[in-house]
Amino acid sequence: MTNDKQLLLTDELLLDYKRCRRRAFLEIYGDLSEQEQPQDFLLKLRQDSFTHKKAVFALAPYQKPNYPDRDWEAGAQATWSLMQQGTERISQGVLLTKTVEGQKLVSSPDLLVKQPGRSIFGDWLYVPTTIKLGKRPKPEYKIIAAFCAQILAVVQKIWPTTAWLILRRQKVHAVNLDIWIPVMQKLVGECLETLQQQKEPEIFISRQKCGLCQWHSSCYAIAKSQKHLSLLPGVTPRRYQELQSLGLTTVESIAATSVTTLESVLSEKIAADLLQQAQATAQNRAILRHNYNSLDVREATVSGEYLSPSTSEPDINFFSTADVELYFDIEAEPSLKLDYLLGILVVERHSRTEKFYPLLAEKPIAEESIWQQFLELVWLYPDAPIFHFASYEVEALKRLAKLYHTPSQLIQPLLPRLRDVHQQVINTVTLPVESYSLKNLARWLGFEWRDREISGSQCVCLYSQWLETGNRSLLEIIRRYNEDDCRATYRLKQWLVDFYQVGD
Ligand code: SF4
Repeated sequence: MTNDKQLLLTDELLLDYKRCRRRAFLEIYGDLSEQEQPQDFLLKLRQDSFTHKKAVFALAPYQKPNYPDRDWEAGAQATWSLMQQGTERISQGVLLTKTVEGQKLVSSPDLLVKQPGRSIFGDWLYVPTTIKLGKRPKPEYKIIAAFCAQILAVVQKIWPTTAWLILRRQKVHAVNLDIWIPVMQKLVGECLETLQQQKEPEIFISRQKCGLCQWHSSCYAIAKSQKHLSLLPGVTPRRYQELQSLGLTTVESIAATSVTTLESVLSEKIAADLLQQAQATAQNRAILRHNYNSLDVREATVSGEYLSPSTSEPDINFFSTADVELYFDIEAEPSLKLDYLLGILVVERHSRTEKFYPLLAEKPIAEESIWQQFLELVWLYPDAPIFHFASYEVEALKRLAKLYHTPSQLIQPLLPRLRDVHQQVINTVTLPVESYSLKNLARWLGFEWRDREISGSQCVCLYSQWLETGNRSLLEIIRRYNEDDCRATYRLKQWLVDFYQVGD
């Protein structure tokens, strides 16, 4: 697109811009051959979103304007015609207007619902509804709803009384347009300016926003080649700006600076953490955390509810090797609120055996049964610590106990046996990794999953496919992945033991 071409800003593009300026830019000017195929998990989210919308549409009769895909002019005309006829509910219409500079703004509201009032059409007006699969009314949803409301106001010559969001489980939320219209207008102004200038926004890799982005491979390759600071754990976009203001643009320059310099723009704790992270990365070595002390252990106790009393040394109880240890990992299907695989690796030191138990619910109804099997197995070893990675397993145990009315004498004594290896790593050691995920940590130790390309989110898709197709090979992939997660947790825990030299 050249400068003299008209810009066309759709609600989709605005949403991309809100999430990442670079992404919106690449959607228009990027080389499409560098875009990856959507991941299975993204396709599943899209399919779930489509199903959710269909369920909302089906609540009452509606009409859909007929127009060729992405022909916005034709779509706007067909929608206008339905609005003029006083159609009660219009699904996936098109609203189009132009800015004074001639840039086109296009919104495709999920629903336009007729209400009493005066508009250009007569004694009625329309109110927009945006349908999203999210649980909470995120700012980005409100911005898109406000964008739609503004274009609708131009089309029907009166502001809609509100804009509605329909979220997961059909939770309805009214968007306060007085608040969100100015926010949206500012964003639209910035977005149009960025796109018009054709200046490629800088990369900033963030696990959360980049994870499902189809430009991830190309952005990540560039970030790697540039040794971009966003690959250093703890560097957020704001901190990145602050580091730049100090002239610190490389990991090495941060590693060589003083904590006092960093404290001029960052808080004391963040400055010390970041300095140590840069040193670990620059020197490619693990470093005992500078602030590993009683405060850290207390903080972990609050979140984990089960760590041992505070100490200024590594927690011996946590790291000591018991004769039997259990390594535990769950595969879940969030949209079904289901924990369908409770995997346990039993490590018996005296007999030098390791046995993996994949407690698998082949059908969602079997969740209670695998929960009972889990309880039987873990109570076969009443003194064995149960190691897991991050907090999900603890939350899941509590959920399952509540759901299936587990007697408290079976669940309460279990909780102090849980040991969160992730929490111990982040509390006690700084490592030269890009993130403290199990994948990154275990790979740094040289561990590799048998199916390198599989991820937890892909397992969610594989389980859905299993339910649809009955293809057992899918279950086998999930089982293998889960076992490798348990083994990676085992490897990481062993490494911690060696690192502190408190092992056997
Ligand atoms: S990978 Fe990340 S930085 Fe690159 S376009 Fe996507 S969201 Fe933006």
